Amino acid sequence: MITFRGGIHPPEFKELAEEKPIETMPPPKQVVIPLSQHTGAPAKPVVAVGDEVKAGTLIAEPVGMISAAVHSSIAGKVKGIEHWVHPVLPVPTKAVIIEAGETDELDPAIKPRTQAQIEKLSPEEIREIVRDAGIVGLGGAAFPTSVKITPPEDAAIDTLIINGAECEPFLTADDRLMREKPEGIINGARILAKVLGLEGACIAIEHNKPEAIRIVSEAASKVWPAAEVLTVRTKYPQGAEKQLISAILGREVPAGGLPFMVGVVVQNAGTAFAVYEAVAKRKPLYERVVTVTGPGIAEPKNLLVRIGTLAADVISHCGGLRPDATKFISGGPMMGIAQSSLEVPIIKGTSGMLFLDGSRSLFKVSEEVNCLRCGHCVGICPMKLVPAEIARMAEYEKLEEAERWGIADCMECGSCAFVCPSGRRLVQWIKYGKTLIFAERSRKKERK
Ligand code: SF4
Ligand code: SF4
Repeated sequence: MITFRGGIHPPEFKELAEEKPIETMPPPKQVVIPLSQHTGAPAKPVVAVGDEVKAGTLIAEPVGMISAAVHSSIAGKVKGIEHWVHPVLPVPTKAVIIEAGETDELDPAIKPRTQAQIEKLSPEEIREIVRDAGIVGLGGAAFPTSVKITPPEDAAIDTLIINGAECEPFLTADDRLMREKPEGIINGARILAKVLGLEGACIAIEHNKPEAIRIVSEAASKVWPAAEVLTVRTKYPQGAEKQLISAILGREVPAGGLPFMVGVVVQNAGTAFAVYEAVAKRKPLYERVVTVTGPGIAEPKNLLVRIGTLAADVISHCGGLRPDATKFISGGPMMGIAQSSLEVPIIKGTSGMLFLDGSRSLFKVSEEVNCLRCGHCVGICPMKLVPAEIARMAEYEKLEEAERWGIADCMECGSCAFVCPSGRRLVQWIKYGKTLIFAERSRKKERK
């Protein structure tokens, strides 16, 4: 079965939520919608305190090339535009706080297009729709989709990959979406292919999701036979773009490069569905499917949640935390980010909310001891790096050396730390090194 070089096989723990159909969570009484919830520049508010909004009303517009529009996720009144704790960024960032009104009305601009209207849309019009709908990569990276589907003119794109691998342990949101909305995903893929001037697309799904493979294959044969469903081996991080490209096409994205350089565009399955909804229903991205799971939550679920809903509200909807819950991670256990507040909002990139109780931690929490030079971390690094050395350089702040050894190419997948018998906090040291390098670059820029 096709796969990439390296990688690991962590326990999957998908059984907690994989058979839970997507449930729509009622809109909360208040949402907190960060203006920074995508890669790139924060959006600029176009509403003021006291304004009335509906679900789907634009509240902030993109600024510059890499940015994304932000919409209200509920109907109500803007109560404030303030700094608020963020699930990804280390410091509070500006967010629009909206208090729910009496009714949950949709913005009147949200109305379906006919099939004939959809077919008449030009690639440029579709790019604009995707940009205006504020769609970003829903696999976690949250890169603005309109930018990704506008590769440089000289890039010869020949392949569109729809990423349904969902390789992070515990997470099942994409699995459920593929099982429950296969036509939407396939139609989204067809729209994306049209933008890129392609005749077909591959939909890659890990082999631990046999139902999704069966259902999506059946739907593809009816809706768009040019969509080919490919089974990829269950291995972490199979869902990372570069690894998926290597597995499917045997092409290597160069160090520091992007998929378009080898003729490929990769879009997450949830993103393809969001594109379909934006084009077919004129629906902006104001809600998403989130897996709420782990031994620390009373009722694991896959939930369709409004962006800006606070973790505390999601927890109450899932029966509360279990008394022995110890840790809350936004995202999966490998690449997710540990949270220190339950007042943190769901953002567009939130694929999961994981509550651990210590019984199923994937990482040994042992004392960090000296490197044994066993080479395990080198053998499994999917980016072909030497994690032991890069982490050591980062620890001793030898940043130029770390850069020469490719620290920037580390995707922070955590595989090296997972296999290390010495309990070395490899990925933490690498992240530390990257933060120092980034801070130094910003200082240099400011001095210029
Ligand atoms: S060095 Fe980076 S890319 Fe390689 S295994 Fe470690 S975290 Fe993953
Ligand atoms: S896996 Fe750990 S002990 Fe082995 S070489 Fe890498 S850092 Fe050293």
